[in-house]
Amino acid sequence: MNRFSSVVLDVDSTLSDVEGIDWLAALRGSEVEEWSASLTARAMAGELPIEAVYGERMGIVKPTRAEIAELAEVYLDRIAAGARETVADLSDRGVEMVMVSGGLREAILPLARELRIPEQRVYAVPVFFSNDGTYAGFDARSLFTQQTGKRSAVENMDLRGPVLAVGDGMTDAEMKPVVDGFAAFTAFRRRPPVIELADYVIESFDQLRKLVLE
Ligand SMILES: [Mg+2]
Repeated sequence: MNRFSSVVLDVDSTLSDVEGIDWLAALRGSEVEEWSASLTARAMAGELPIEAVYGERMGIVKPTRAEIAELAEVYLDRIAAGARETVADLSDRGVEMVMVSGGLREAILPLARELRIPEQRVYAVPVFFSNDGTYAGFDARSLFTQQTGKRSAVENMDLRGPVLAVGDGMTDAEMKPVVDGFAAFTAFRRRPPVIELADYVIESFDQLRKLVLE
């Protein structure tokens, strides 16, 4: 009997050592990069609601289809140590694995394929392109552009319990009231306000595996 039957995984700075929108912002020069990174850091530390910064960042960054494809490669290159093995092992043991991200869905689908997590269990913000591949907007109504979006989504997913949520940011910690455990993942980022809310603090996918199975 596993301690948890479902695991909800954050993506940016959890499954992979990248903050996708910041990586895209860096393509627009160091000033835009610094501006975006400071907004991300403040949002993930709980100082700013994510909806206050989402549209503003996307409106400046305007990623093209080709840039999203490049970012997808970065997610794969920087995949967390042990993530492939842990996700495969837990899936084999019947644990339901779900990816929930405030990032862009098209950029993380290749990572999901690599982890053999089916597309219907990948929740993130859809981004749109024109026929020529230029940016045509994002789904501003997506729950995942909202501070408590992950919580609302997980509440309606009908996951088999007990459910463990895992992530480095405040939007992950917001899931705590609707799951059975929240683990702060600190391999890439240590955010004290998130750690303070956590039931568990883990710094590797090996520790996640043990936590779920014991
Ligand atoms: Mg994150």
